[in-house]
Amino acid sequence: IGCIGILGGGQLGRMLSVAASRLGLRCHIYEPGDAPAGDVAHRLTTASYEDRDALTRFAESVDVITYEFENVPTSALDLLESLRPIRPNRRALAVSQDRLTEKTFLNGIGLATAPFVDVPAQDDLAAAIAQMGTPAILKTRRMGYDGKGQIRIEDAGQTGWTGAPSVLEGFVDFSAEISVIVARGADGQVAAFDPGLNVHRGGILRTTTVPCGLPARVATDAVLIAGRIVNALDYVGVMGVELFVTETGLIVNEIAPRVHNSGHWTQAGCAVDQFEQHIRAVAGLPLADGRRHADVVMENLIGHDMDRVPELLATPRTQLHLYGKADIREGRKMGHVNRITG
Ligand code: ATP
Ligand code: MG
Ligand code: MG
Repeated sequence: IGCIGILGGGQLGRMLSVAASRLGLRCHIYEPGDAPAGDVAHRLTTASYEDRDALTRFAESVDVITYEFENVPTSALDLLESLRPIRPNRRALAVSQDRLTEKTFLNGIGLATAPFVDVPAQDDLAAAIAQMGTPAILKTRRMGYDGKGQIRIEDAGQTGWTGAPSVLEGFVDFSAEISVIVARGADGQVAAFDPGLNVHRGGILRTTTVPCGLPARVATDAVLIAGRIVNALDYVGVMGVELFVTETGLIVNEIAPRVHNSGHWTQAGCAVDQFEQHIRAVAGLPLADGRRHADVVMENLIGHDMDRVPELLATPRTQLHLYGKADIREGRKMGHVNRITG
């Protein structure tokens, strides 16, 4: 493998490109919009997912196709897949693109999720609330991220609509949120990084801390759950698995078929980080073992957190990552810091 095609040119594509180039591989990024990754990739194509000529030229220029963004239209994927292998595979994408198929799949392999009801249209909401009870969370089935497309339902009389087919989830009374960054190689080998403790604010991830501070049996259980998911999907690549810790055990919140924000700590905590691990998997190279050599707190720099950059540059044992995004907007992920704490 000499050239990896990446669908999506955001910060994840950017960090994947850097990791690939360290391994002597080139990346060709395909991105319809703003592409912070454009400056580090070997090649950038800016074209829509409807542009069949551009998609064809892109696929023909690469050896394998991966993605940093799971909402690529099916028609584009069909064309790309006829030309080059897509890793992780289409099933993993289809399952995780839609919260309804995702939860159905997870329950089907014996894993617990929040209780949920399909809410195809606004007219179905009242019945769904009656069935689920409150509090609950209404989420769009597709395209939501950073808590976008979600409405908290506090009482049965509440109105409001996400504007798209949704699922209503029962509110999970969790004591903590953790995630596992797991990888599966082309040969079926599985390696996981240590679970991280995640803290969200306003629906957006703020910090990930490793070690997560939970009992070893909880961490082990989380890793085993992640392994079950990637094996069931015959997955190749890195996956982020978000879990709720509850009194009755772990509940899977959602899965992301790609490198994940809560895995950025691996850049400072492991010899091989999640980005290199993903590149290794999709390029058919052996996986690293995921071992951690430092305690790390990862903090996202969101919007005007950028004002803190001078101070962060002067902080010892702190690794700064900036994504090169031109305009600062509230709620926009601009960078992150990995603070080594032990
Ligand atoms: P991401 O940016 O991680 O993809 P998202 O928009 O897909 O986020 P979720 O992960 O579904 O959103 O939810 C965001 C956060 O909201 C969760 O991390 C958790 O803190 C809270 N949350 C989501 N679903 C539930 C639930 N059923 N019960 C309690 N809290 C929840
Ligand atoms: Mg999500
Ligand atoms: Mg999430």
